[in-house]
Amino acid sequence: MVQAGKSQDTFLHQDEKYVWHSMKPYNPDGTMVVAKAEGAWVTDTEGNRYLDAMAGLWCVNVGYGRKELAEAAYEQLKEMAYFPLTQSHVPAIKLAEKLNELLEDDYVIFFSNSGSEANETAFKIARQYHQQNGEHNRYKIVSRYRAYHGNTMGSLAATGQAQRKYKYEPLAPGFVHCAPPDAYRDNDDGTELKAVKAIDDVMTWELSETIAALIMEPIITGGGILVPPEGYMKGAKEVCEKHGALLIVDEVICGFGRTGEAFGFMNYGVKPDIITMAKGITSAYLPLSATAVKREIYESFKGTDEYDYLRHVNTFGGNPAACALALKNIEIMEKEKLFERSKNLGAKLMNDLKTALKDHPLVGDIRGKGLLVGIELVKDKSTKAPADVSILNEIIAFCKKNKLIIGKNGATVAGYNNVLTLSPPLNIEEKDLSFIVETLKTAFYQK
Ligand code: PMP
Repeated sequence: MVQAGKSQDTFLHQDEKYVWHSMKPYNPDGTMVVAKAEGAWVTDTEGNRYLDAMAGLWCVNVGYGRKELAEAAYEQLKEMAYFPLTQSHVPAIKLAEKLNELLEDDYVIFFSNSGSEANETAFKIARQYHQQNGEHNRYKIVSRYRAYHGNTMGSLAATGQAQRKYKYEPLAPGFVHCAPPDAYRDNDDGTELKAVKAIDDVMTWELSETIAALIMEPIITGGGILVPPEGYMKGAKEVCEKHGALLIVDEVICGFGRTGEAFGFMNYGVKPDIITMAKGITSAYLPLSATAVKREIYESFKGTDEYDYLRHVNTFGGNPAACALALKNIEIMEKEKLFERSKNLGAKLMNDLKTALKDHPLVGDIRGKGLLVGIELVKDKSTKAPADVSILNEIIAFCKKNKLIIGKNGATVAGYNNVLTLSPPLNIEEKDLSFIVETLKTAFYQK
């Protein structure tokens, strides 16, 4: 409930005093104190309503204000609030079974609380798997520049954005990077697949027998919505097989319908060895993440030796209320056909954005899949030089003044953020999509 008698200023003053925010520059127009939310709309403490076209941090997939989710968690908390997954409980078993069904293959699930932890778990499993197969030198994790994989020392080491690591190094050792697919800048429609060669090269140069895994998002999200050319992900999987490396797919953002399929990799016809997920698994109503591991890999952890099992414990991971809520969240997604909705509305949004913006001199590229869109801004369409971040900040501030929240990302060059991002709740109404397009059009042409 909005707190009566306290103005936004009072909250902002207290916020400034007590709350350490993750990324101040993310809020060029000042901090917003949100008090209520419903559907795709959030309301601040002054009663101003905003359309949240980022679904929080790309995560509130079923939209805000779903009472069924609160009730599912409440009922579970009353029944059995906690038991560690060193043993088991019914909500975790049911959710693991449901995830297996969504993944359309045979995976075993390890639960954690965040995307970063899910990725850390994947790295440890990949390294230990090779150890147990007698391949003691396979420890390196290959990742792509521009990708984001989390904030912990291993997941940040996997991250390919130098500006996020600067001042925190040294991070976990054993992570190497290669160039990402950038279809816009490489002019790669899939005929050359230069970025597949980049993975092959780094695995060769680093010595095949030292490579444990490749981690990749199906579409690089936080690095500027880099939709790979046709054939890239299949090519990446083949390169992994050639070098004996596992393929870890980070579905933290792309999962749960964001790209128009249950999981992003399903757009590209590959079967990953390990899949990590978070955000949309509970639509962010409670913290939960999962690392799904192909059964053959899991089976190799069943040896009788003291060190053959996974020595990895997570106190809060797979909390019963979070699992019960996740099950209800998936039930809503299925009942309301939100994956399909994301595909259809995403295609419409892309089309409308292109019609409205593509001829504007600042707009270099508009790309995406499902309800995940990036608008890359350039100084000059022929050189593709990235636009200054101040221009993006002006557009974001204009949108906010006009009750629309959008994001920015990119890191084409360290420090540059030249891609505007859209990732709204999957149940967003069509009229709200029109509001996004109209507001952006005004921002570009009339600001
Ligand atoms: N992987 C990807 C692709 C992400 O976008 C994020 C978070 N934005 C993470 C991992 C890390 O997730 P978390 O913040 O929950 O640790």
